[in-house]
Amino acid sequence: MVESILVLTHADETGYSLTKGSLEAVRAGKELAQQLGAQLTIGIIAIDASAAAKSVLGSRARVLCVSGEAFATARYATDAAACEALSKAAQATMILAPQSSRMARVAAGVAQRIGGAVDTHITSIGVEGGFKVSRWFYRQRIEAVITRAARPWILLIEGGVYAAIAGEQADVAVEPLAVELPKIRTSVTGTRAPALDAQTIRPDAKMLFVAGAGWTKKQPDGQIHAAEAGDLILGFLQTTGASLGSSKSLVDQGGDGQPVLPFLTHMNQVGQTGSTPRHPKGLATCCHGEEPHVVGWRFIAERRAISLDPNCGWARGKADVVYIADAFKVMAKVNELLNLKA
Ligand SMILES: Cc1cc2nc3c(=O)[nH]c(=O)nc-3n(C[C@H](O)[C@H](O)[C@H](O)COP(=O)(O)OP(=O)(O)OC[C@H]3O[C@@H](n4cnc5c(N)ncnc54)[C@H](O)[C@@H]3O)c2cc1C
Repeated sequence: MVESILVLTHADETGYSLTKGSLEAVRAGKELAQQLGAQLTIGIIAIDASAAAKSVLGSRARVLCVSGEAFATARYATDAAACEALSKAAQATMILAPQSSRMARVAAGVAQRIGGAVDTHITSIGVEGGFKVSRWFYRQRIEAVITRAARPWILLIEGGVYAAIAGEQADVAVEPLAVELPKIRTSVTGTRAPALDAQTIRPDAKMLFVAGAGWTKKQPDGQIHAAEAGDLILGFLQTTGASLGSSKSLVDQGGDGQPVLPFLTHMNQVGQTGSTPRHPKGLATCCHGEEPHVVGWRFIAERRAISLDPNCGWARGKADVVYIADAFKVMAKVNELLNLKA
């Protein structure tokens, strides 16, 4: 079968540049087209697609664009209509798109509209002896290799699997595509997001800082020091820009009526039933390092931990360096040194 590849991309919140995930999907499409000698088309959804198209220069692809105010923000009706129109115009058999919340929301609906199939959480695409696509199931615990005869086949590519393509920021010939707007029932009135420094989950940070339940447990003086713990943790995050992870025990405590750190939610939880973030370095504090937590560290390259317990999981081979010490004292000293440096 002669394949025709389409990469669906969308702009970031500025409306004028493609998201990192989109640029990674373009790289995936480019590599696939080269391997197959197939036609590559890039579809862009943006408020101003010709500005966004600059970042895909160098991909030697046909560039189709859907532009306009209606496509400035994520909305099911308009995004699905745009993806459907782009897929049909490109006559694509393989459609790649980033695993972004915007694409994940519409991908299944678009597959249904174009009579195709969809798979998500794709981590690799092999072409030897036909398409073999790897994907995660059940978060990142089971990896499957799948093939499908159905076309068009939509694949949502996991973030961080392909390097983002580096565009040359020059003008690119784009073919505008007119999309008949569907009946719009949802109007986007604005975005409410936490202030940047209140956002503690930072996927691009160089370091993951994990807070465990020890921060809110009774300390050797018989007292709980939750407020001090919060100050130490936030102080460290502010000076280093690290991303904040947590153990399950700590984020579950709120529901149990125990002391909590107010800036932590279940979104911070790392582990078997939490997330599996990717950072070059990780520092666990007041955390025991049990297996269900540490499986979430599989993509953390260099691991260190501070625990009072010399028999903790970290000390049993889960970390490169373990400091058997009081994390309150260590982090106070670390923050002091960081502040001196700043
Ligand atoms: C099915 C299943 C799924 C699970 N999924 C997850 C998951 O996704 N993520 C997850 O995290 N857990 C998960 N768990 C729970 C996991 O097994 C552990 O119970 C949890 O990780 C423990 O959290 P913790 O280490 O923060 O707390 P604790 O076990 O209470 O450990 C606290 C640690 O802090 C140390 N400490 C206390 N004070 C200080 C101090 N001043 N300085 C230094 N150290 C100090 C203590 O010595 C202790 O080692 C799961 C469990 C099950 C059964």
